[in-house]
Amino acid sequence: MNQTIYPCFPEGKKKAVTLSFDDGVIQDIPLVALLNNYGMKGTFNISCGKFEQCQTIEADGMVFEHKVISREQAAGLYSGHEIGNHTWSHIALGNMPSNVQMYEISNNQHMLETLVHSMIRGLAYPYGSYNKDTFEILRLSGCIYGRTTVDTKKFDLPGDFYQWHPTCHFAAPELLNLADIFLKEERPWYMPWQVFHIWGHSYELDCLNLWGQFETFIQLISRRKEIWYVSNGELAAYVQAAEKLELYDDGKRLYNPTPVTVWGIYGERPFCAAPGQWTDVG
Ligand SMILES: [Zn+2]
Repeated sequence: MNQTIYPCFPEGKKKAVTLSFDDGVIQDIPLVALLNNYGMKGTFNISCGKFEQCQTIEADGMVFEHKVISREQAAGLYSGHEIGNHTWSHIALGNMPSNVQMYEISNNQHMLETLVHSMIRGLAYPYGSYNKDTFEILRLSGCIYGRTTVDTKKFDLPGDFYQWHPTCHFAAPELLNLADIFLKEERPWYMPWQVFHIWGHSYELDCLNLWGQFETFIQLISRRKEIWYVSNGELAAYVQAAEKLELYDDGKRLYNPTPVTVWGIYGERPFCAAPGQWTDVG
């Protein structure tokens, strides 16, 4: 037997959409309402050392406020979405010695976990900055992914989840064109699965006057039965679980050693492998 497991997202889907927003600014309040309205899931990356801080930003000759929500607001706002780590004080990790990185990551992670009473599974690198020590610190902290700020303009899943390059920033001129390509392309079971990963900061929706265009994009991409709408952390955990499936008995039985139910195709037949269970696939 030399069969390949073709992994799928839940219910046999081959496409996923995930959104990632950084800094926890006050514009997250209307953004979460918008995403909830369309059944979309986001990941919101927060620096606890920045709660309630305000700075001014100049763009196109206009001055805007970058105001971070309060700890109390953060505790309730993101229900149904994922909260991710963004370091304690929003530092460029790549310039820091490992002990400072460890403090920035683990201290913020602890504060976030205390705030939302659940595990924090990933981090978005402030300024897109990291170095070779960062991945090991993330691994030791129990983080399963690190999101960069490098736009790929593609839908491939990352080869290394600690360098998860998103598809594009929501202000990218190609956004609607990429959405069109993503939606039109057929994804039969034997083709690689795809993810459209959009990132940004919600204050930019005000700064760049992009609320209208962003809602157009969300309208276009949402509520489609062939797409899995998922947070960054849930997607990373799913893909990493799918990579751990084990075949036994000449490929007749499949074992799922993970806590995640994994769907896929094997021998041209669909399967759904429950956590910690054997599945007959022969
Ligand atoms: Zn940031």
